[in-house]
Amino acid sequence: MAENTFENVAIIGAGTMGHGIAQVCAMSGMEVRLFDLAEPALQNGLDKVHANLDKGVARGKVTESLRDETLMRLAGTTDLQTAVDGADLVVEAVPEILELKRKLFTDVEALVDDHTVLGTNTSSLSVAKIAEVLKRPQQVVGLHFFNPVHIMKLLEVITHPGTAPEVIEQIRAFGGEIGKESIYVKDFPGFATSRLGVCLGMEAIRMLEQGVASAADIDAAMVLGYRHPVGPLKLTDMVGLDVRMHIGEYLAAELGNAAFEPPALMRELVAAGKLGKKSGSGFYDWD
Ligand code: NAD
Repeated sequence: MAENTFENVAIIGAGTMGHGIAQVCAMSGMEVRLFDLAEPALQNGLDKVHANLDKGVARGKVTESLRDETLMRLAGTTDLQTAVDGADLVVEAVPEILELKRKLFTDVEALVDDHTVLGTNTSSLSVAKIAEVLKRPQQVVGLHFFNPVHIMKLLEVITHPGTAPEVIEQIRAFGGEIGKESIYVKDFPGFATSRLGVCLGMEAIRMLEQGVASAADIDAAMVLGYRHPVGPLKLTDMVGLDVRMHIGEYLAAELGNAAFEPPALMRELVAAGKLGKKSGSGFYDWD
């Protein structure tokens, strides 16, 4: 396999996004370590990579040898030092909370080399605000992947004013190596994707609250009438209601736009643990 820009990659957070990012990097020939705080979350992420690859083999999209090599290149750990040791690229996919991401990168920065690139998979937060607490903010870049990562083609690259040009060049190459189409976006709340997508999702929830139509019919309106591949409520279930709620709260405050404010129904479902696909139910029943 041709040499990659980054040989050793660490992915922090093994949830919906982290396991998928780990999978695409390992499939492209990189040595990958996947980290989560506790064994069950880590194992769940590793199991999902295994299941995705098995499904790929069953469908004839992945060869058995690529599956086996990918799994050999992927290791899991609950020790942060082990995860990032020798990493050229660290990508975080922890919950969408600014202080959490700042704290994590502060810890990681102390454990890695000066050249290590720190990529954040934030959906909406200011990349500059994550970077400003670090000693090497020039190494930080937004790497916004989409769910499911092994299928979705887009990589939204967010550069903040201090991102080093060499880092942008490395990421340009990395995007191609993992088979993604990259777009380059300014560090503005919600970037090019979440600002439009979350706005639609929140409005669909308000329509459901107002009894305009059922969840299935609101989704069908967008799928059949506007050619969206997935309706906004089903997509919210797939993303995670908690994840989207955090994004909405942040965008409402940053953009001063109440359209992003999470509706009461969303808050009630999150409080009840109905987070969408990952918890078994949300606007739909996934079991
Ligand atoms: P998730 O809830 O599925 O997974 C988060 C994981 O992070 C969990 O396994 C949790 O145990 C772990 N975690 C929590 N605190 C941690 C810490 N301090 N250190 C290490 N691991 C920790 O969340 P997700 O949907 O994968 O979202 C992660 C990030 O990706 C968020 O910033 C989100 O906005 C972004 N994102 C999500 C989607 C999506 O469709 N879900 C799409 C693009 C970007």
